[in-house]
Amino acid sequence: MAKLYFKFGAMGSSKTAQALMTKFNYEEKGKQVLLIKPSTDNRDDLTDNEGFVHTMVRSRIGLQAEAVAVDEQEDIRALFHRKLNHAPLDVLICDECQFLTETQVEQMKDLADLDDIPVLCFGLRADFQTKLFPGSKRLFEIADSITEIKSVCRCGRKATVNARFDDNGEIIVEGDQICIGGNDRYEGMCYKCYRELIRNRNH
Ligand SMILES: [Zn+2]
Repeated sequence: MAKLYFKFGAMGSSKTAQALMTKFNYEEKGKQVLLIKPSTDNRDDLTDNEGFVHTMVRSRIGLQAEAVAVDEQEDIRALFHRKLNHAPLDVLICDECQFLTETQVEQMKDLADLDDIPVLCFGLRADFQTKLFPGSKRLFEIADSITEIKSVCRCGRKATVNARFDDNGEIIVEGDQICIGGNDRYEGMCYKCYRELIRNRNH
């Protein structure tokens, strides 16, 4: 029986690289993979004749692949079946899965349970205020397999939260959960260092 997998980590934990390596591994075994990504940033987007929006998934170490962008209204299970009409598909991989809606996570669970398609989701656990993203929350609730992709804080402890910084390197604690097109920078950190930066802010 196929499973819904959630592989989560902090910023800089190579989630995207791992998503792309997983895609490569399946393809090496002759499996066809549909790679998708929630559309929060449409700089690379291009709509084809069938109405699918193509975008790029890029990892910091240089790996990249074309993906289908999905907006919040998209029914992911229906999208997968629409794609199946054009070509065989065996696996669904989603990068940046924290941006999915709860309903979309449920559609992916159905895809695994009812259609026997393995679904692998890669994304962040929490936002810059240490709160779960909606997609990640639902994945923690219903995924069949949950794995942490570990990375290290500047102090050497495990990074668990994602700090957001402004242009001056000052930590930001207020604002929208998703920052699109901003110049904000993120860093995966341990909670202790994150709290320390907030306490020492503007001193
Ligand atoms: Zn730390």
